[in-house]
Amino acid sequence: MIFKGRFEKGNIPWNKKQVKKNCLFCRRQIEISQSRHKEGRGKFCSLNCRRNYKYKLAKGFILTEDLAELIGAIIGDGCINKNYRRKDYRIQISGNKNEDKEYYDKYLPHLVFRCLGILPRPYLATNGAYILQFQSEPFRIFLNSLGIEPRKTKTVRIPFEIRKNIFFLQACIRGIADSDFTFICTKRKKDKPNNYPRICAQFASKPLVKDLEWALRGMGFTLNTKYEYFREDKRGFSYITNFINLDGPYNLRRWLNLIGFSNQRIITRYQVWMKTGILKPKTTIEERKRILMG
Ligand SMILES: [Zn+2]
Repeated sequence: MIFKGRFEKGNIPWNKKQVKKNCLFCRRQIEISQSRHKEGRGKFCSLNCRRNYKYKLAKGFILTEDLAELIGAIIGDGCINKNYRRKDYRIQISGNKNEDKEYYDKYLPHLVFRCLGILPRPYLATNGAYILQFQSEPFRIFLNSLGIEPRKTKTVRIPFEIRKNIFFLQACIRGIADSDFTFICTKRKKDKPNNYPRICAQFASKPLVKDLEWALRGMGFTLNTKYEYFREDKRGFSYITNFINLDGPYNLRRWLNLIGFSNQRIITRYQVWMKTGILKPKTTIEERKRILMG
């Protein structure tokens, strides 16, 4: 009973070394144990201050072209998942482990780093998806304030703050395109080769295609769209989708001048067309690289 009365909150008798520091939000002085300090915990005097602080950081985000591009990638292939056990949110961007590998290994992590100071590494999930995952509450709150929320598939659109600035809009569309657009070649006549270029995508979100249509027309592209198109996948599941197509060399040239691509999945596709005049359907990135090397 020698320790009687001394087991109170913040007074653990064998942990004499208390660290004095200031609450990150209200600056009030607090004393925490050495071990909590070493774990990087005990930054706030109260839960309220912890909460207020992340909202303060979220308000500190200022849109840049990098942020607009990252937001584009999240609009395209991202999701915001709540982790119920830890009570926080993870942001995941997922792609194809072969076709998108270079983009996920070399490009996206650095884009995240420039935006958030975090350098995530991609990993292969058990379902075969290649995933880049990171966590930032301030960024998640910032995304939320722009209208990008956890259940976004059918409703997501380009945030207003991005739509009103042409440079942000171009960067954001590049992020969306690197995730969700592709480049193909169609046949102009039945017995002719696949030689007519097309930049295209389909989305579950009709408002997103509306925004893309508005933005790209404003930049002088010619394009066509199909809304609420009924489709069936290989397994027989039906779904409704929305298409956007930009046909012809004029649109490709314009795209490369105004928007560009950062994903080798797409870059190798139009480069093969530029080199050989043809892009066959269903090529792999390895096949396309071989054509470009030879
Ligand atoms: Zn405080």
